Amino acid sequence: MSVQTVTSVPGPNARRVLEGDARLISPSYTRGYPLVAKRGEGMYVFDADGNRFLDFTAGIAVCSTGHCHPRVVAAIQKQAAELIHMSGTDFYYEQMVEVAEKISATAPMPGPHRIFYGNSGAEAIEAGLKLARYHSRRPYFIGFYNGFHGRTLGALSMTSSKQTQRARFAPLLPGFFHISYPNPYRPPHGAKDVTAACLEELDRLFHTTTPADEVAAILLEPVQGEGGYIVPPKAFVQELRRVCDREGILLIADEVQSGAGRTGKMWAIEHHGVEPDIVCSAKGIASGMPLGVCFARAGVMDWKPGAHASTFGGNPVCLAAASVTLDLLKESLIQNAAEVGGHLLERLRGWPANHSHVGEVRGLGLMIGIEVVADQKTRTPDPALRDRIVDAAFARGLLILGCGASALRLMPPLICTREQADTALGLLDEAVRASA
Ligand code: PLP
Repeated sequence: MSVQTVTSVPGPNARRVLEGDARLISPSYTRGYPLVAKRGEGMYVFDADGNRFLDFTAGIAVCSTGHCHPRVVAAIQKQAAELIHMSGTDFYYEQMVEVAEKISATAPMPGPHRIFYGNSGAEAIEAGLKLARYHSRRPYFIGFYNGFHGRTLGALSMTSSKQTQRARFAPLLPGFFHISYPNPYRPPHGAKDVTAACLEELDRLFHTTTPADEVAAILLEPVQGEGGYIVPPKAFVQELRRVCDREGILLIADEVQSGAGRTGKMWAIEHHGVEPDIVCSAKGIASGMPLGVCFARAGVMDWKPGAHASTFGGNPVCLAAASVTLDLLKESLIQNAAEVGGHLLERLRGWPANHSHVGEVRGLGLMIGIEVVADQKTRTPDPALRDRIVDAAFARGLLILGCGASALRLMPPLICTREQADTALGLLDEAVRASA
């Protein structure tokens, strides 16, 4: 199957949906191009007019097993016919335990573990933040500029990806502080040693506004997602762990986007050889069904009954999807993400030499960022060009999204084959050439 368009896009059916959407739907969403999705199958999305697109977004890193994987669909259908909801806050059901066992077996830190279920990434983050405060009895949190952790007020207090996400929502929660993310391509203040520069910022916080012994947790995206698909130096993450150990601070890994096999390991933090205390996951963990997961060392998740819960969190149908997703990841998809991601990165390595507006290609597994710049020397971001490339890719039947100041991100389902990766690169190459 290849990319195929049968009408101009958007076609007549899509236009009807777009008209209703413009009239009725919250204008806060940030759609870039008019894809009106009707059906998904594997690596492909079909729009309302039957046009077929190669999906390198996976519904924002969610459809890890591809669209409508037959085993996921079968598990959802079976579970929906048996028990749709009972609420794990007040009752018990087997799926909560079954998925917890599977997640615990993947954990990047030694057990025993405890698992909390919510419905989204933001809820997983809220659980992680609340748990850290509860356990440590400390008030403060430290996160990173350009980090994205969700839109609920607690998560938003840590989110600092884009000004528009926070504008007019103040006052946010007090006690949330930020330092620069160790971005090797654009080091803070032009520093030579990005690891040292960011650790210095942390130290400055400790000695000025935020006493270390009052910090509950540091919240880290092991690969920064919305902020630009930035891979931090391993040395930084390892040193951060040492600082946390020294100061009694919990390290929370926000694996909402980077986790569930996307980087070629189950959890991206494993690439850094670091064990977190708390992990927050969502997106790819249930193949498109809404599920947030926060898990921790059992000694850390020590809150008392009533401290935290969610009516829908860990819904049986979502957990049925998660259970099969975890099986598929383990059977082959994590491995495939590593292999096909490596192939893509290898092929993309030459792009800065061949495209004057590509500044850098970076990533792990199938979490790949391509930095679009006005000038390779100055590394000046060119968001307008980046957006033109995204649109040009769409016109050619390839779905991608932007991230960060001026990057493109490739985050296909983890079932992506080498051939599909090559097709995508061919289309993207055309799109970049047509847009420059
Ligand atoms: N954390 C990270 C790293 C994310 O990328 C996102 C969403 O993009 C979230 C948290 C919030 O997830 P959700 O949109 O499911 O609330």
